[in-house]
Amino acid sequence: MYDMIIIGAGTAGLTAGIYGCRAGKKVLILEQTTYGGQIINTPDIENYPGMAHVSGFQFAQGLYEQAIGLGAEYKPEKVLSVTDGDTKQVKTSENEYECKALIIATGAKNRPLGLEREQEMVGAGVSYCATCDGAFFRKKDVAVIGGGNTALEDAAFLSNYCNRVYIIHRRDQFRGDEKDVAVLREKENVSFVLDSVATEILGEDMVTGLRVKNVKTDEITDLQVSGIFIAIGQMPDNQIFTDVVSLDDQGYIIADETCETGTPGIYAAGDCRTKGVRQLTTAAADGAVAALAAAKV
Ligand code: NAP
Repeated sequence: MYDMIIIGAGTAGLTAGIYGCRAGKKVLILEQTTYGGQIINTPDIENYPGMAHVSGFQFAQGLYEQAIGLGAEYKPEKVLSVTDGDTKQVKTSENEYECKALIIATGAKNRPLGLEREQEMVGAGVSYCATCDGAFFRKKDVAVIGGGNTALEDAAFLSNYCNRVYIIHRRDQFRGDEKDVAVLREKENVSFVLDSVATEILGEDMVTGLRVKNVKTDEITDLQVSGIFIAIGQMPDNQIFTDVVSLDDQGYIIADETCETGTPGIYAAGDCRTKGVRQLTTAAADGAVAALAAAKV
């Protein structure tokens, strides 16, 4: 029997682990892939208070070591189902566990664009992670799709390796930080393709290009690129929790700044819950809030 089980070892989950252990609780953290969460793919974090620059990997490694050092147990197991009751039952691919309080911190996953053959071409030129795959496109031309901070960071990262980076955004205003847009505008090998949407991946076995349409003029252009990096945001992955918590129409767990889900003893922390601002700082804050509440169960 654990006092607290945390599902997900990203920033919210690991922070919850730190706070749970510091509250003297027996804590288990379950993770289906590797610890670290989305931030692991960010080359340089420069908006976490007190750290002017830190790589996502270094940040995640530090969080993990801190949680384990304080006594959290970590198991790389995929959670299959959760059952509510006097205690919570958590069934994974390997085991079944019981706990008094449960914190869901499953984050979010990359949103696909929905182009034909998009999934089939992953690994053949289509990628959702510039830091993981960027080096394969050294001296090549690539496209980044999206207008948020991830797309801007991906474009900046890729511009260090690639011959040319096209940044394709459906509007002419970016959602991401203006400071990052300004840096990209100064780069000679970055081209802005604005008011435009991708309509077709070109190439048979490998990507050879991307067809884009200008949404104002309907003009079609074929960009000769060998890499397509899709960075159009995230979506949650909460379907297995529908029996124990309520989801909003986009699939996020309904919980407010207290991280309470409405089901006693079950909390939702970080990007997996309904919230206005999904940042590293807010994920860490949720982890702390959820664990301190869960520690009272
Ligand atoms: P995001 O902020 O939600 O931006 C997604 C972008 O993709 C938007 O520009 C959106 O266009 C575009 N988009 C969405 N669906 C599309 C579609 N079907 N076709 C074409 N374009 C589409 O996502 P994100 O950039 O991944 O960032 C997620 C969160 O993490 C944000 O809060 C962001 O600030 C944060 N983040 C922070 C950092 C950092 O601080 N270092 C780094 C990365 C991410 P519209 O603008 O027209 O809606």
